[in-house]
Amino acid sequence: MAWDFETDPAFQRELDWADEFVREHVEPLDLLLDDPYDKSDERAMAIVGPLQQQVKERRLWACHLGPELGGPGYGQVKLALLNEILGRSRWAPTVFGCQAPDSGNAEILAHYGTPEQRERYLTPLLEGKISSCYSMTEPHAGSDPTLFRTRAVRDGGDWVINGEKWFSSNAAVASFFIVMVVTDPEVSPYEGMSMFLVPAGTPGLEIIRDVHVGSGGAHSSHGYLRYRDVRVPADHLLGAEGGAFGVAQTRLGGGRIHHAMRTLAQVRRAFDMMCERAVSRQTRHGTLGSLQMTQERIADSWIEMEQFRLLVLRTAWLIDKHRDYRKVRKDIAAVKVAMPKVFHDVTLRAMHLHGALGVSGEMPFADMLIDSEVMALVDGPTEVHQITLAKDLLKTYTPAPGDFPTTHLPALREQARRRYAHYFDSTIGNDDPGALTGSRKAEAQ
Ligand SMILES: Cc1cc2nc3c(=O)[nH]c(=O)nc-3n(C[C@H](O)[C@H](O)[C@H](O)COP(=O)(O)OP(=O)(O)OC[C@H]3O[C@@H](n4cnc5c(N)ncnc54)[C@H](O)[C@@H]3O)c2cc1C
Repeated sequence: MAWDFETDPAFQRELDWADEFVREHVEPLDLLLDDPYDKSDERAMAIVGPLQQQVKERRLWACHLGPELGGPGYGQVKLALLNEILGRSRWAPTVFGCQAPDSGNAEILAHYGTPEQRERYLTPLLEGKISSCYSMTEPHAGSDPTLFRTRAVRDGGDWVINGEKWFSSNAAVASFFIVMVVTDPEVSPYEGMSMFLVPAGTPGLEIIRDVHVGSGGAHSSHGYLRYRDVRVPADHLLGAEGGAFGVAQTRLGGGRIHHAMRTLAQVRRAFDMMCERAVSRQTRHGTLGSLQMTQERIADSWIEMEQFRLLVLRTAWLIDKHRDYRKVRKDIAAVKVAMPKVFHDVTLRAMHLHGALGVSGEMPFADMLIDSEVMALVDGPTEVHQITLAKDLLKTYTPAPGDFPTTHLPALREQARRRYAHYFDSTIGNDDPGALTGSRKAEAQ
């Protein structure tokens, strides 16, 4: 098999265009504009709209989607290469139509939405005209969705929802919410939970407050929500009644790997800043980069970053090959576990090398460290994915025979000697299995 780590020349031209476009036109927005999700900010949209148009004309809009949904359908490997560029800027995913959670919400609407639901919610979402919110985590339960309590009860032609959700990102600016609720507490949660579409402004849906992450700023919009007698028509059920887990999985597989693709850009950003500092800052012995302890940090960081990149690209390649996230569950879990660690470790080294400046508000490292921890939590904490990965790996192993791994070593050694007996002395039992007999020795020479 030929291994080629370069993409085709036509797509490389698109990457080169995106690289320059993001540097020249999009990265400056990070310094100027606040919330990339807020489509009601007219001044921001006046700047962003023409940029989005250029991306559409270049056929790089919503690259995570297949052609049937208006995306170019490049596949995950090419998407990974593009996302390595988009991950540099907070605004780039909005400009390129692939912002989470809208991207994942679009995927599930495309998969499970009725024609009416697609027209009302999916079409404007794909066009970048509205934002959406995914409302699953509850204050008392996050990692284990079987413990969720928010409840929907059938009442004539409606469902009535009661409960609390939090860390519902973009709640403040979303036009609709996808909410996961218990519809039948009598059966297993895997059959008794359903997804609903709730339009913003539905009576009874209240944002209690924004739950800030870190120092706020770029991370500020995560709603703590109360659903009090929120009434939606039965046709607002998304997917089958009792089918919430299937719907959630459709969304989370893609979301996890797409986060990792963009996170790689942030790791590279920390790495680049570390190297720049290493060759700039002087000590009386020369630059920081001339010190071996700095060199060790730089070497370790580069190796970890490139290992992570290969893991992401390999997983993207597997998704393209199998075209089913479920078949690469363990690989996505491995990416999800590796992502926060490499992000954290490289960022911390970069921060340390910058001395006091590194912890100041003038450098991005403090926010990046929080972001690395966010990546260890969103879409399930690290431990849950370690368990998924380990269980999947262990499935392919069988117990060793005997009481301990070497119980059968003498028998195995005997078996091996018999198989290759003609290479050894006629007396089987020679303790040096590498020893050649006289005639074989002559042949070997
Ligand atoms: C910035 C941000 C944005 C978010 N956006 C959204 C959103 O839009 N919509 C949404 O629904 N949710 C969102 N979340 C919530 C996120 O999905 C949850 O934080 C995550 O699922 C973990 O749940 P939890 O916070 O309740 O932690 P818990 O479930 O309380 O877990 C806390 C810790 O316990 C340990 N732990 C938990 N379970 C296990 C286990 N099985 N084995 C070993 N250790 C375990 C882990 O160390 C874990 O970190 C967001 C969170 C953040 C930080």
